[in-house]
Amino acid sequence: MKFIDLRSDTVTKLTKEMREAMLNAEVGDDVFSDDPTMNDLEDYTAKLFGKEAAIFVPSGTFSNQLALFTHCNQGDEVIVDQFAHIVQHESGASPIISGVQLFTLESDNGIWDLNKLEKMIKVRTISTTRTKLVCMENSFNGRVIPLDYMEKVFNIAKKHGLSVHLDGARIFNAATALKTEVKELAKYADTVSVCLSKALGAPVGTILVGSKEFIEKARYNRKIMGGGMRQVGILAACGFIAIKKMSKRLMEDHENARYMEKLLREIPGIQIDGTQLDINMVFFDIDDERKYDLDTYLYSKGVKILPYEGSFRFVTHYDVSRSEIKQAIDLVKEYFA
Ligand SMILES: *Cc1c(COP(=O)(O)O)cnc(C)c1O
Repeated sequence: MKFIDLRSDTVTKLTKEMREAMLNAEVGDDVFSDDPTMNDLEDYTAKLFGKEAAIFVPSGTFSNQLALFTHCNQGDEVIVDQFAHIVQHESGASPIISGVQLFTLESDNGIWDLNKLEKMIKVRTISTTRTKLVCMENSFNGRVIPLDYMEKVFNIAKKHGLSVHLDGARIFNAATALKTEVKELAKYADTVSVCLSKALGAPVGTILVGSKEFIEKARYNRKIMGGGMRQVGILAACGFIAIKKMSKRLMEDHENARYMEKLLREIPGIQIDGTQLDINMVFFDIDDERKYDLDTYLYSKGVKILPYEGSFRFVTHYDVSRSEIKQAIDLVKEYFA
């Protein structure tokens, strides 16, 4: 049975073109910077983001943590949203790998009170550590953060001599929703982390972009973290297709998510958060005790979902069609009828 999988866009399987590209990719030993396909992909991605250099790593978590490890010294403070991926979904990695202190600042769904942000920036004294880094995330839990807000955060950080990291796991979705280029978002960060294996459909990989000096340091730190890899040209070949081709079709996923939202709104008692409807996701809750068994029911009918922090997040992607969305939401309606 082919499942309709709404758990995440990470479930997308590589396209036929990616499989063929893998087969034909030129490879070398990337620890010696000898893999021509990977070198090309890193150069291409850096330019696309308006940065000097880039480095490929196994995952988005790896990339964010490598960024923290490279930006900071042990004991430095990093300001991050309380619901950011870095603090909520990275297995407590930051204090383990970088020994940094995370300061989790409360936001209104990804938008900080900027006066509060500025007040929380610390300088080193006998009893306080220094703030070294501010992290943004765009898109943020289904919401796209506006460019003028990013610019304000960046300017506050720079005023205080801080670095800025952007977790852009779904930055192509954000750029699509904003009808702009990824380069425009990358302007407001020193480093950006970009996932290839979510909606873009590549099997593995995230790219971290930044200055030449930063990426050189990150290359050493990647080796410390066990992320030095060998014939990665096969993955870079997929990465090219992800960035050049798959990034151009994301509006279709967004439109499908809006279609799914419309169908879901027909269910009595459903609550949909209107601030999280900018990309390929619908976050919702249902005022009905039966919701706790919805995943089991849907699974028995061939639909996979992931209950999300006590409520639901359904995600559209390349491997789920409009008619499959209709089929899945009809089952949800039937269940609550
Ligand atoms: C998915 C995601 C990551 C990285 O996830 P991995 O599963 O480690 O690749 C990082 N940040 C955000 C916002 C994400 O959605």
